[in-house]
Amino acid sequence: MSQQENDAVRVRFAPSPTGHLHVGGARTALYNWLFARGRAGRFVLRIEDTDLSRSTDEAVRQIISSMRWLGLDWNEGPETGGEFGPYRQMERTELYRGAAGRLLAEGKAYHCYCTPAELEAERARARAEGRPVVYQGRCRELSVTEAQECRAEGREAVIRFRTPAAGKTVVRDRVKGDVEFDNAQLGDFIIVRSSGVPTYNFAVAVDDAAMRISHVIRGDDHLPNTPRQLLLLEALGAAAPVYAHLPLILGSDRAPLSKRHGDVSVEEFRARGFVREALNNYLALLGWSYDAETTLFSMDELVRNFSLERVGVTAAVFDNEKLLWMNGHYIREMDAAGLTVRIEEFLEDTRLAGLPGEDGRPSVGDLVPLTQEKMKTLADFVELTDFFFLPVSFEEKALAKLKKDGAARQILSTAAETLRQLDSFGIEAVETALRAAADSMELKLGKFLQPLRIALSGKLVTPGMFETLAVLGREESISRIDAALGMLAQ
Ligand code: GLU
Repeated sequence: MSQQENDAVRVRFAPSPTGHLHVGGARTALYNWLFARGRAGRFVLRIEDTDLSRSTDEAVRQIISSMRWLGLDWNEGPETGGEFGPYRQMERTELYRGAAGRLLAEGKAYHCYCTPAELEAERARARAEGRPVVYQGRCRELSVTEAQECRAEGREAVIRFRTPAAGKTVVRDRVKGDVEFDNAQLGDFIIVRSSGVPTYNFAVAVDDAAMRISHVIRGDDHLPNTPRQLLLLEALGAAAPVYAHLPLILGSDRAPLSKRHGDVSVEEFRARGFVREALNNYLALLGWSYDAETTLFSMDELVRNFSLERVGVTAAVFDNEKLLWMNGHYIREMDAAGLTVRIEEFLEDTRLAGLPGEDGRPSVGDLVPLTQEKMKTLADFVELTDFFFLPVSFEEKALAKLKKDGAARQILSTAAETLRQLDSFGIEAVETALRAAADSMELKLGKFLQPLRIALSGKLVTPGMFETLAVLGREESISRIDAALGMLAQ
């Protein structure tokens, strides 16, 4: 890392609030955050809400909530404030108006009065003649009188940037290398709409300059915008930041990752019981690597090791299985108290709170030792333990198995009898007694426990039987076994 890179690193995540935070956006946020945190830099959150028809406050709220959940905190941004605020573009329109005014006064921008119909006709001609579709510059050199006439006709004006007619603009990208763009192909693009609202490229250039952004790290879908932003920054007399465009994220079919591929928002992964450690770790590796082998990184390790040099150029494929594996890993790694808190938060989020721990029912903490090794997601906890809290509801397959098992009735009554006679109902006592009961019936333990499992839970897959019995307690266990026996007798 050069000294210059260490000097005043200021990066930003600049989402357009048009929906939930997508995993692609989360990766961009994470890389910016890691870059800033590893270099004593500042991480800025800027809300790009100039697309009035698509931006919503609800989306701003959701993006902020997802970022907080991931632990990607910002030094400057909405709700936090900061020296270069405000941090929502629609609250910065004065600044854009001023910058546009300066460019107009310096002849670097001009008013364009072409109507949408005229522009469409121009584009159609260009397409018919096989020419690139760029604005032909009809209003580029309007005289004062011509401009007055346009206004008198009631034409509305946009402001266009006067792009150099020839030459090239080179983006020196830290990931992609040098990428050249022909200025002629960029055309005189619009910087302020007739409504007075700035376009995306203009607002970004003005803000990156005003917020002293040192590095722009973002998805490579923005690479084609970069020459326009560079030209604008130059015209505004501002230094260009370093650019790093991140590779695209693909679905398993190698098409760009989208809703079609299933869950794509951070919110959805959270609701399915993914933990932030796994999502952050997984997203970090979608486009960046430390070496060929290492896959597990704590946030601290990522902060220490992340660098733009190791961001790859090839598109990354989102692998749900790998993420699931990683999630199971992080769940197993947690200490019991930590995992208990996560599960409680998850139950709260999914409105299942209140089930465990009430009316003498077991608490989450009681059940963590029974489930931790078996869980891949926090949602698996619900799946594995709901029968502790709810009346037994038989899964179809489980019920069929129970009814088909010729030995079931005898096993269940033996088990009930055995449990009734126990002095202590601890795990070990239960285990010793049931093993002996299975032996006395000359049954393998698994065969003996199967009907018991179904009677107690209604399921084929549960936490360990001895632990389950100990947590359910004698009375509840026996009453469930008796209920199953009653059902089998019918
Ligand atoms: N607002 C843009 C988006 O959400 C990002 C702009 C940028 O990073 O320059 O795609």
